[in-house]
Amino acid sequence: MITFEQALTTVLDGVAPLDGERVHVIEAVGRVLAEDVLSDIDMPPFNKSAMDGYACRRADLDRELTVVEVIKAGFPPEHTIKTGQCAKIMTGAMVPEGADCVVMVEHTETPTENTMRFTGGKTQDNICPRGEDMKVGGLVLRRGTRIAPREVAMLSAVGCVEPFVTRRPRVGVISTGDELVEPEVKPAPSQIRTSNSYQLHTQAAEAGGAPTYYGIARDVEGEIDRLLRRAIAENDLVLLSGGVSMGDFDLVPQIMRENGIEIVFDAVAMKPGKPTTFGRSPGKYCFGLPGNPVSTFVQFELLVKPLIGALLGAEHRPLEFPMPLRAPITRRGLDRAVWLPVRLTDDGGILPCTFHGSAHVGAICEADGLISIPVGVAAVDAGTLMNVRPIRS
Ligand code: AMP
Ligand code: MG
Repeated sequence: MITFEQALTTVLDGVAPLDGERVHVIEAVGRVLAEDVLSDIDMPPFNKSAMDGYACRRADLDRELTVVEVIKAGFPPEHTIKTGQCAKIMTGAMVPEGADCVVMVEHTETPTENTMRFTGGKTQDNICPRGEDMKVGGLVLRRGTRIAPREVAMLSAVGCVEPFVTRRPRVGVISTGDELVEPEVKPAPSQIRTSNSYQLHTQAAEAGGAPTYYGIARDVEGEIDRLLRRAIAENDLVLLSGGVSMGDFDLVPQIMRENGIEIVFDAVAMKPGKPTTFGRSPGKYCFGLPGNPVSTFVQFELLVKPLIGALLGAEHRPLEFPMPLRAPITRRGLDRAVWLPVRLTDDGGILPCTFHGSAHVGAICEADGLISIPVGVAAVDAGTLMNVRPIRS
């Protein structure tokens, strides 16, 4: 059985980013830049006042100065500041020629209507020099950057209204299981609602994919085959849940093969999610995820999300923060690495969530992050620093 690290390397091996397209910046959140973005202006584009106050010469701060104009943001100054002069200036306005500092209005008095005296001890320049933040032609965002609202700010600032981004990977979602009914339906005594379907759908969307739900396939070959065939034709990536374990009706791997998908691995030494199955055919990827909801969730986070990232051309850089464990953990079954849901404590540590096992959806609803315990490690002491992978945004 391969390790999680080997599985991840295998999944990402040789994956090339999808084609690019232009989208409006307001719709670009979650997309990944397919080209470097350069600035078309200096920022700030002029020497800019950082304060509401008076622009003047530092050498003149010891005397009463004549106010020659009032400069609003968005209007060029009309005067050069000479000795004995100043201009009232607003935050964001252009600093006039001749001035080398802006004194804060709070540090001034106005003996007459058109004179000003500095009353502070000393002052900073309070001028943001032209080009301080970026220069014309300078690289502001790199290809491979995932666009969040702050990148939207940057794209807007440099006039990149239609950034070139990779297209969203199309992700087909299929649930399998005779016991499943759609969430709208009240389950009969032997049934459960499919929680994986919409979970995977929304996980895929959050990861930057364009998901489509194909419904529930009964555990019969014809039904799984019919949905999988369609989903493979219409998507870059297909996520099936259920039907990959050792039960008599776990037919998914065989049907993947029959649809031209070469199975690359069918078990990973991790818990939850050991029977996770991954395969591909040219330009297509397919996961058979175990049906248990926590397994599905964790396997998506750890293996599927990075694949969607790679199809988007994004760098794989999951965040992890070391945090101290507030209670000891012991476990059995040391042949697999285990991932556990944890929550943050008020005193800056973490505690494992109450976790009944891989069907316990409530445990991941409570969790702020996941921690992992490597193969062979039976106990972790309280106080140990654990790398926490956040799952709450
Ligand atoms: P399987 O992987 O098909 O053996 O299913 C393992 C467990 O997960 C069983 O208890 C299933 O009832 C449950 N399960 C399978 N598919 C889903 C689903 N879509 N939503 C919620 N639970 C599921
Ligand atoms: Mg099943």
